Amino acid sequence: MKLKTIPQEYQNALPILKKIEQAGYEAYFVGGSVRDVLLNQPIHDVDIATSAFPAEIKEIFPRTIDVGIEHGTVLVLDGDDKYEITTFRTESTYQDYRRPDHVEFVRSLAEDLKRRDFTINAFALKEDGEVIDLFDGLQDLTNQVLRAVGNPHERFHEDALRMMRGLRFVSQLGFELEEETFASIYENHALLAKISVERINIEFIKLLLGKYRNQGLKMFVETECYLYCPMLRNAGQGLLKFAELSEKQIHEEAHAWVLLLDQLQIESNSIRTFLKAWKCSNELIRTVQNVYEGLQQRKTSYFSKQLLYELGEYQAVLVESLLPYFNLTADVSTVQEDYLQLPIHSLQDLAINGTILMEHFDKKPGKWLKDTLSACEQAVVAGEISNQQSQLLVFAQQFI
Ligand code: ATP
Ligand code: MG
Repeated sequence: MKLKTIPQEYQNALPILKKIEQAGYEAYFVGGSVRDVLLNQPIHDVDIATSAFPAEIKEIFPRTIDVGIEHGTVLVLDGDDKYEITTFRTESTYQDYRRPDHVEFVRSLAEDLKRRDFTINAFALKEDGEVIDLFDGLQDLTNQVLRAVGNPHERFHEDALRMMRGLRFVSQLGFELEEETFASIYENHALLAKISVERINIEFIKLLLGKYRNQGLKMFVETECYLYCPMLRNAGQGLLKFAELSEKQIHEEAHAWVLLLDQLQIESNSIRTFLKAWKCSNELIRTVQNVYEGLQQRKTSYFSKQLLYELGEYQAVLVESLLPYFNLTADVSTVQEDYLQLPIHSLQDLAINGTILMEHFDKKPGKWLKDTLSACEQAVVAGEISNQQSQLLVFAQQFI
């Protein structure tokens, strides 16, 4: 099969392929971008595979960066563009069902395509638009089927993460798992215990953000892969409930976690433990905690000024935009306006500070100072007093 039109992203990269070929090697576009072109979807990263070894690539191009030379990947800089160029490789020795401990560079494209996970990810595209399809991936694309390359059982034993990748492609593309591939994931799901949480996390989030999330979640439960993901041992029912929640796609990682926690009915005070087990960053955990709690309040009534102030604009918008998942109407612009209307937006905006209070009351620093500032802050946010130094000092006097 030959592409009728070559997408712009590939056109831009054609001189790179040509240069490699002129030096006497083979070079192709490979991986997810070829799949996405064939599905008429936008491409993100253009990956190039070549028979040239990394040192040979570095001889051809003057500007390169070693981004993963032990895996055979060299980054080639071309004007403002950069391309990852990876030498054809096989992954010979697999330890413990994880990624191989070393890779072997080879000169054969077929060898390289054979080690890829699914038939629809194992295309190579030639410079002239010819699609190389060694595993009938085109037929699987047409039939909307996700099929492991070769023997699924062996492939999931080589790298168990492929099972999670399979589920996330179900969620992203709405494809069905081919029968043997499904059976093999079901049979081998416990191998996920061998995979690092960080790698599982990446695929799980992609699953939750997929357009066909409901389908992906159902497969996640049916194959029992969820049993070997952090904190989800008893979550089968909750995950199915999540699958039924709404058709609406999720676009924010924080939203995905909040909705998951909400559907699993995780208590507020367990959120940190839950997300730590998933190795989420502290920043993300804080955001999820705040948005989760904000959401519980927002489901029953509009934001109080206090809540709006505490959340800040970014998190308040995150809360508001979750409402449609619960068949409630979101009004993000009203939330933004109401936030702007708050008399202050942080403690720095308050017309008094610690130094002023200490001088005025001739007192040394202590707990009283923090408490007084906080009381002033709350009174101003609530609109009980205006943000003027004289008024605040009268209020503080009464408070102390
Ligand atoms: P995305 O669109 O999310 O980037 P992708 O298919 O491009 O999806 P990548 O992780 O970018 O996924 O990997 C690029 C390609 O490398 C895949 O299309 C596949 O051919 C191969 N690949 C990636 N991870 C694995 C794996 N664990 N086992 C086998 N092949 C893999
Ligand atoms: Mg990719």
